[in-house]
Amino acid sequence: MRIDIITIFPKMFEAVLGESMVKRAQAKKKLRVLVHDLRKYSQDKHKKVDDRPFGGGSGMVICCQPVFKAVEALKRVNPQAKVVLLTPQGRPLTQGLAKGLAKLENLILICGHYEGIDERVRQHLVDQEISLGDYVLTGGELPAMVLVDALARLIPGVLGDKNSLKFESFEGNLLEYPHYTRPAVFRNWPAPQVLLSGNHTKIEEWRKKEALKRTKQRRPDLLLKKRSK
Ligand code: SAM
Repeated sequence: MRIDIITIFPKMFEAVLGESMVKRAQAKKKLRVLVHDLRKYSQDKHKKVDDRPFGGGSGMVICCQPVFKAVEALKRVNPQAKVVLLTPQGRPLTQGLAKGLAKLENLILICGHYEGIDERVRQHLVDQEISLGDYVLTGGELPAMVLVDALARLIPGVLGDKNSLKFESFEGNLLEYPHYTRPAVFRNWPAPQVLLSGNHTKIEEWRKKEALKRTKQRRPDLLLKKRSK
């Protein structure tokens, strides 16, 4: 999979792309992430990419010109690339949405900033709008990083153990069961005996029961989705 990211803060991505799973996915050649500085696409002599909003009001708005130029240049390389705008007004990111996107070969992510981006970008350039949740961040960079991370671990061959995905939270609309590791007793708090029993049938039963209990307590909405499926 190739992901192109358009941003006015390319340096923000260095740490995330150079560590952990996203780094591993790139090293395994399963993922390529290219970060593009929006300013390079500006036709303004000072490389300005934003302007005051028509109608007045606070903040600045990212102009159409550099965004269209950047996306059109990237589309010449990968015409079928899906263009995603990170925005609090988009569809909330879920594991289901991430799974669908992880099947694509090419994605272009646009990170907004300031008051946002000229509406004509959304209307005429973007295929999908994605939100990280009902809160407003300063820019689309952190949401883009979250999306890249969520996608990287879903690309076949990236995670060492395929089962990690199978038993993860949101699979089958359940939260995952609790985990324990050594020592068996820590400060008088024992790990559940069944997990030390070596009886895999019982362990599986316990995990299923705990996953259901946990989901009922914390995310009953997921169980409703499960029933209506
Ligand atoms: N004025 C906009 C509004 O009220 O909808 C918010 C602009 S926000 C300060 C600047 C940029 O951050 C947005 O264009 C978007 O790219 C990004 N952003 C902020 N919150 C986000 C969220 N919850 N999900 C995805 N992107 C977000």
